[in-house]
Amino acid sequence: MIEFKNNPIEHDISISSPFAYRIHPVHGTRHHHSGNDLRPLVSGLDGDLLYSVADGQVVVSKVNGGGVKFGYGYYIIIQYDGWCALYGHLMGLDVSVGQRVKAGEVIGRMGTTGTSTGTHLHFQLYNSNYTVKFFTEDEDGVDMYAVDPELYYVSDKKTWEEILYDCLDEPDRWVKAIDTLREMAELSSDLGDLEIAKYFSSLIIKVYEKGVVDGGK
Ligand SMILES: [Zn+2]
Repeated sequence: MIEFKNNPIEHDISISSPFAYRIHPVHGTRHHHSGNDLRPLVSGLDGDLLYSVADGQVVVSKVNGGGVKFGYGYYIIIQYDGWCALYGHLMGLDVSVGQRVKAGEVIGRMGTTGTSTGTHLHFQLYNSNYTVKFFTEDEDGVDMYAVDPELYYVSDKKTWEEILYDCLDEPDRWVKAIDTLREMAELSSDLGDLEIAKYFSSLIIKVYEKGVVDGGK
């Protein structure tokens, strides 16, 4: 039974591309996206740490066929008890085949290798032990053993405010977080949701002031 003890990324999760049919952002073709594209809610940065979702063993640690600019780039597959997870577009390879890993242990760093338009983790889940058939698609173009990871993430139920305070000591992410908040405030006011727009605007001021007090980041 698939059960996560830890999320694959730190900070709260934002899914920028779900488990669904989509027009491929690079190839422009319609294809089933058999995983989740993940980044922290306030934007991913190269080198963000990635974690094993349970106790398992590394069964694949390699560069995509064709080279580092193709497919998943640097990617790994970890086998758990009857199921597996693939982590793609990594910065490099930090674990080796056969290595045992614990839930919550760092197993790599977020990057943008392979066919990718920006820093994120492609996270794919398989309801099967590792087999070369993983990469076989059924007649609908869905990877044979792939299941939607979205059902399994661990919720850490942080408020927006807590998430933002978490990144106060990371200037790059903090700047991006403020931008994200601005976009959300604008979007909510465009949608006519003025209460929400006001909430995001007040958060910007609060978080900005706290950043300034804590060292002007
Ligand atoms: Zn993806």
